[in-house]
Amino acid sequence: MSVENVPDPTLLGADSAIIAVERTAICGSDLHLYHGEIGGQGIHLGHEFVGTIVETGPDVRRVKKGDRVLVSAVVGCGHCDPCLARDPVLCTGGGPRVFGTTLEFHGGQAEFCAVPAADSCCLAIPDNVSLEQSVLLTDILPTGYTGAMNANIKPGSTVAVFGLGPVGVFALQTAMLYGPSRILAIDRVPERLARAAALGAEPIDASDGQAVARILDATKGRGVDSAIEAVGADATITDAILSVAAGGTISVIGVNMNMEFPYPMPLAFMKRLTLKAALVSVPATWDHLVPLIANGKLQPEEVFTHRLPLSQAADGYRIFDKREDGVLKVLLDPSE
Ligand code: NAD
Ligand code: ZN
Repeated sequence: MSVENVPDPTLLGADSAIIAVERTAICGSDLHLYHGEIGGQGIHLGHEFVGTIVETGPDVRRVKKGDRVLVSAVVGCGHCDPCLARDPVLCTGGGPRVFGTTLEFHGGQAEFCAVPAADSCCLAIPDNVSLEQSVLLTDILPTGYTGAMNANIKPGSTVAVFGLGPVGVFALQTAMLYGPSRILAIDRVPERLARAAALGAEPIDASDGQAVARILDATKGRGVDSAIEAVGADATITDAILSVAAGGTISVIGVNMNMEFPYPMPLAFMKRLTLKAALVSVPATWDHLVPLIANGKLQPEEVFTHRLPLSQAADGYRIFDKREDGVLKVLLDPSE
């Protein structure tokens, strides 16, 4: 990981804009790139960023130069029916792309970033939403919420959340919006378990590999109605499947690239399980999440434990990856 000088970006087309980045964050998805599990060498990282529009192509209409905007981490062509319906994951005009995950598509952990289809991926920062809060609307609060939305949580039901990084924390907090009676929260990091307990969940330490047994114990052998997986590892997805009761739902938001993932078909069949996995359609969530933040029902900025200048990004990655110093989420400021 290094911070280098590169040429300023140029517009990507008539519907594109250039953003002067004011804040950007490091995501658990960046760690998959950091470890070389996906991507390759030389990628300009960063898919969580907010800033000011400094230039627009002639076809950009909904936002304009001078607007302060947050940018969806996931962007489609911007013009097909799904994109117009704010669902870029279903884009039929080339499919969804995530900023800063390929050599060709540069990310926003930078002073400037070129965004395609600016009308569909930029949102003017709403009233009563702070700059730091808006960073969390670019990816991970929408992702946690997608995990909860797909988990089929009913009032009174029981939920397990695997992984209590910032994404898992948001899955937990938005799961509560559906009125479950219990949320079991699973991780291996003591301060992350403590944070989940403070939010009203029942912490389960998975460091000895016995999470499933503990969940079954805690539910009189039945399992939970819904399990949300926010790690992306084979082991935790399997644990999530093994933890749900008959008729239950597994909602995977962790990124897993294993084409050979062993799915326990007899269980799925005999217990009538539902498994959903989803890349987040960020813009589709804004109408729900913005009012919750603006009215103080969610305070997502509480996840930021570390604020560093962009020049110290390499330290930020190391701290986040090694979970040093009680880190939960790292915010970077390119002006410093
Ligand atoms: P993170 O690395 O901070 O959090 C992962 C957590 O999982 C850590 O707290 C870790 O201790 C815990 N963990 C690891 N192995 C475990 C195990 N065996 N049992 C229990 N807990 C375990 O990352 P994050 O930023 O919270 O992101 C979480 C996942 O969400 C990543 O896979 C990321 O790529 C993914 N993500 C998906 C989308 C999407 O569109 N679906 C968007 C953003 C992030
Ligand atoms: Zn992300």
